[in-house]
Amino acid sequence: MLHEVINPATETVVAQVALAGLDETDAAIAAAEAAGPAWRAVSPADRGRLLRRFADEVDAHLEELARLEVANAGHTIGNARWEAGNVRDVLTYYAAAPERAFGRQIPVAGGLDVTFKEPLGTVGIIVPWNFPMPIAGWGFAPALAAGNTVVLKPAELTPMTAIRLGELALDAGLPEGVFTVIPGKGSVVGERFVTHPAVRKVCFTGSTAVGQRIMRGAADQVKRVTLELGGKSANIVFADSDLERAAASAPYGVFDNAGQDCCARSRILVQRSVFDRFMELLEPAVKGVVVADPSQESTEMGPLISAGQRETVRSFVDESSEPVDVAFRGEAPGGDGYWYPATVVLPRSTGDRVWQEEIFGPVVAVMPFDDEADAVTKANDTAYGLSGSIWTRDVGRAIRVARGVEAGNLSVNSHSSVRYSTPFGGFKQSGLGRELGPDALDAFTELKNVFISSDSSSSES
Ligand code: NAD
Repeated sequence: MLHEVINPATETVVAQVALAGLDETDAAIAAAEAAGPAWRAVSPADRGRLLRRFADEVDAHLEELARLEVANAGHTIGNARWEAGNVRDVLTYYAAAPERAFGRQIPVAGGLDVTFKEPLGTVGIIVPWNFPMPIAGWGFAPALAAGNTVVLKPAELTPMTAIRLGELALDAGLPEGVFTVIPGKGSVVGERFVTHPAVRKVCFTGSTAVGQRIMRGAADQVKRVTLELGGKSANIVFADSDLERAAASAPYGVFDNAGQDCCARSRILVQRSVFDRFMELLEPAVKGVVVADPSQESTEMGPLISAGQRETVRSFVDESSEPVDVAFRGEAPGGDGYWYPATVVLPRSTGDRVWQEEIFGPVVAVMPFDDEADAVTKANDTAYGLSGSIWTRDVGRAIRVARGVEAGNLSVNSHSSVRYSTPFGGFKQSGLGRELGPDALDAFTELKNVFISSDSSSSES
């Protein structure tokens, strides 16, 4: 079956991609399983070397990959270059891991006790459309480093860069079957990763609803899962903060990638005493976000991924069944493309849909709070817990609030969430497990304990 890949900024067809059916998926999983023993037997130094070569291939094709993402996903060229560079960096970081996959020697009586980190086998990685390259890399780089083979399913809407990464892996010298990209539907390829017994782990990034379904399905085989799901993160601005900086940066904490970011700070909480001043500062900052052709160097925000996604965003604001007060909006191009302007709304209560549900578009809700306790309570009044920001000049308050907010990735006086060298993942319904950072290999290995008796006169103890 052929699937038309659309450029969301122009609505033109980028490519036709063949979607795998069940038989092709099974064949790819069988090939990955067959490639496992030889890949696992590659010496740690050579496995590291192959991953560094893969990183070099990505680096040599960085501009090509970035341009492909601009055309396929409507990402700004600046973001797309960062994303391709992130795949390179994640591969480089985990290329050092095979030679450092240390076990432990544990003191016990009567012999030697050691632990090993054994690869799981074949790992299935399911990727969403919002960050096709980085999210793929956060899964496949540590999975391969740990000695697993990988089958990867990109999102239907954004398969282009994943397909190219699969080719670059082969060019780098990774053996056939070690890393296979299988474009296809979630209901076909993705479901098969869950039901196929040779797939020992599913690493899923996407919506909470599909994540729940995968977790239920994985229970049948006690299959390992990592889930990176939705978010509704809070940006908490205290009266003692650098208000100018907090307001100037707030749009970039939520409207990056047109708000299609699981870490988007889509709820801004502002201390009541500075609420009006913050809104005065926020308006020019929002209106100043450059929304235009994503291939232009100066563009800061591109279109939404699809007509369907734009409908979803409209259903929260323009076509909502409950009243929504729009404070102000930025500009967006007209004509072809799935454009939507940066929009600031003022919820009437914490129960409003715009305050509770992940919109996954350039819409931010702003609400006042009274004191530190109220800020933490409001920030935690959500089923999600992925990220968040805290703006204050009081170090003690920054620590207290960072410890109080139930989220996996918090930043103080900035909006940073993702660094390949630090762990990333969600509390509550934002996910299960962690990616990236020094411990990522633990998510792709089983811990094995081996006791070796030092008593030569007996064969057991
Ligand atoms: P989605 O859940 O619809 O799809 C994600 C992937 O799952 C796609 O590849 C899709 O084909 C596949 N899929 C769909 N149904 C499936 C099924 N039944 N079985 C197996 N696979 C299936 O999500 P989306 O709309 O592509 O992405 C947006 C969502 O992803 C948002 O909720 C966002 O917050 C979340 N997200 C989370 C993170 C994170 O790290 N926490 C990062 C990016 C995106």
